[in-house]
Amino acid sequence: MQRHGDAASRVRRRSGVLATVILHADLDAFYASIAQRDDPRLRGQPVIVAGSSRRAVVLTASYEARKSGVHSAMPLFMARERCPQAIVVPPDFARYRAVHESVFAVFKAHARAVEGLSLDEAFLDLDDVTVPAAVLVGRRIKDEVRREAGITVSVGIATGKMVAKIASDDGKPDGLVAVAPGTEASYLAPKPVRRLWGIGPKTEARLRAQGIERIGDLASLPDERLVALFGAWGVELRNLALGIDPRPVVEEWETRSISTEETFEHDVTGKARLGDVLASQAREVAQRLRSQGLLAQTVGVKVKLANRSVRGRQTSFVEAVDDAPTIERAAWYCLERIVLDKPVRLLGVRATNLRAGDRRQTEFFDALGT
Ligand SMILES: [Mg+2]
Repeated sequence: MQRHGDAASRVRRRSGVLATVILHADLDAFYASIAQRDDPRLRGQPVIVAGSSRRAVVLTASYEARKSGVHSAMPLFMARERCPQAIVVPPDFARYRAVHESVFAVFKAHARAVEGLSLDEAFLDLDDVTVPAAVLVGRRIKDEVRREAGITVSVGIATGKMVAKIASDDGKPDGLVAVAPGTEASYLAPKPVRRLWGIGPKTEARLRAQGIERIGDLASLPDERLVALFGAWGVELRNLALGIDPRPVVEEWETRSISTEETFEHDVTGKARLGDVLASQAREVAQRLRSQGLLAQTVGVKVKLANRSVRGRQTSFVEAVDDAPTIERAAWYCLERIVLDKPVRLLGVRATNLRAGDRRQTEFFDALGT
């Protein structure tokens, strides 16, 4: 471990009594929890929130349904196979939006900055506080969210974004997990490598073939092997594996965007018939991102209906992406969340929160955030 002296001492330097503490807050099974909150018959039952089109995907599954292997972004037919007794309810976005507003008002009351990742998930910059003080803030946030919204939120507290997010996942549901400064590396070490940001199933398989299964295995690899495996990214990956993650909480992302849209000659009825257009638009956006060397943190879909009303949804990734299949999946995920009660006149896909990028993080799609 000697060769990681630099990184280790950096961790120690950041572990002084006062450090910027980041809190990751994530509502538990958001859409399904709202359904169960509002209909007592659904409590304790496996509930799946999904649209009704032929290509519907699971938007959120309750924890009871997750026990049968159902998860977000899974095709609905597959979810029904795994959990035939599940109760499928349609989404109600107006209600989610209202809950989102009240929950984020709680977040903002307790943080210096709030970076929303989706309707139900955010990073909070708690400023320079001790971790025990941050835990008190986390408890207060949990209490206020329960009181205001009637649902539970899981909270992770750490000195960096990634560890805070992993900690909130570890505590789900209704958890509060704090990682003390200086203990990030040992907290991460026993976990499988796929829990690191940027490690998708392909990279995980490649690492497993090399005998690298735990984050601690990765953290202790010599430089030469890291560079041989990952190129220049290897060093950054080890920093992540040690829990060194200086990315700040950013309230507003850059507004540059890449988008494409199409007005149909004849209005189109039904989501299923929009699939091919959506796929080609996603491919075009991906290709334009790559040709400009950009990655997108957020993908959105816009529709204009026959009555000229405009509707849109967007979703954000944990790590920015530029590949067509991921962008298409995200676009479809957004379209699923838009209510189409009129024929569609125009359909568009837009990538925002752009940044200059290398190409390493294309595998990870955080559709599991709800
Ligand atoms: Mg959530």
